[in-house]
Amino acid sequence: MDMGIKGRKAIVCAASKGLGRGCAMALAHEGVDLVINARTKAELEATAEEIRKKTGVKVTAVAVDVTTDAGRKQVLAACPEPDIIVNNAGGPPPGDFRDWQRDDWIKAIDANMLTPIEFIKASVDGMMKRGFGRIVNITSSSVKAPIDILGLSNGARSGLTGFVAGVARVTVRHGVTINGLLPGPFDTDRLRNTAKAEAEKSGATVDQVMAERAKLNPAGRFGDPEEFGQACAFLCSAKAGFITGQNILLDGGAFPGTL
Ligand code: NAP
Repeated sequence: MDMGIKGRKAIVCAASKGLGRGCAMALAHEGVDLVINARTKAELEATAEEIRKKTGVKVTAVAVDVTTDAGRKQVLAACPEPDIIVNNAGGPPPGDFRDWQRDDWIKAIDANMLTPIEFIKASVDGMMKRGFGRIVNITSSSVKAPIDILGLSNGARSGLTGFVAGVARVTVRHGVTINGLLPGPFDTDRLRNTAKAEAEKSGATVDQVMAERAKLNPAGRFGDPEEFGQACAFLCSAKAGFITGQNILLDGGAFPGTL
């Protein structure tokens, strides 16, 4: 299927690896020129070069912390009129809410709620004027089914989801959709790092912990960042203009609800 976005311009945040990289690669395969971002320059440049080689699109790498005002300004300077934005950043750490101080909450809210809102604020009027825009926020399955030790993530991402629910219904009349993609367990460094901590505690190897966890998913496996990217590319496509304000769970069926 031709997604109808060849030649469009996208910003994909936090995209040197994992889910952000999956989204960047899938958009590039649709002929979308990219500004990609992450903090670690060497890794980001390597990803940018790989995407260029595989797809032939224009890729600009902006190595900044996207959760800062200065970082976001640099990203937007590299792509002042984006057609597509994929909002993403690292997730907050797990823990016990009794240990979290105001500063921990502010960091989580900055990264996982206010940063996407700032990008929406900076881009949505231009997108509406031009009659086309796609914004996808990478959040988490924890928005739908909270995970007790991820209270910072549950809270900050639900705040973003609530905000988007309102604004996405105002922008759609002007061709601009805003949706959430909610990852369950995807095979990325982030997931491997959480398995590392469990392995250290239990004495098992990281691969054993990963295999056990994968078995528990109804699909019998983890998600692949590539398939996450393909879902993102569809939401960003010209074909998805009637989908807005939705939160799409990609979890292999782990959430046990009927709806
Ligand atoms: P990952 O494989 O660890 O990749 C994270 C990417 O984000 C890297 O490119 C990293 O590069 C970049 N990044 C992190 N903080 C950044 C910042 N402040 N500014 C710019 N770039 C930043 O993680 P992932 O699994 O793809 O996760 C992506 C998001 O989805 C996270 O918020 C995570 O909590 C959420 N999520 C993931 C899963 C899963 O199963 N994988 C499940 C639910 C939710 P640098 O470190 O170089 O900046």
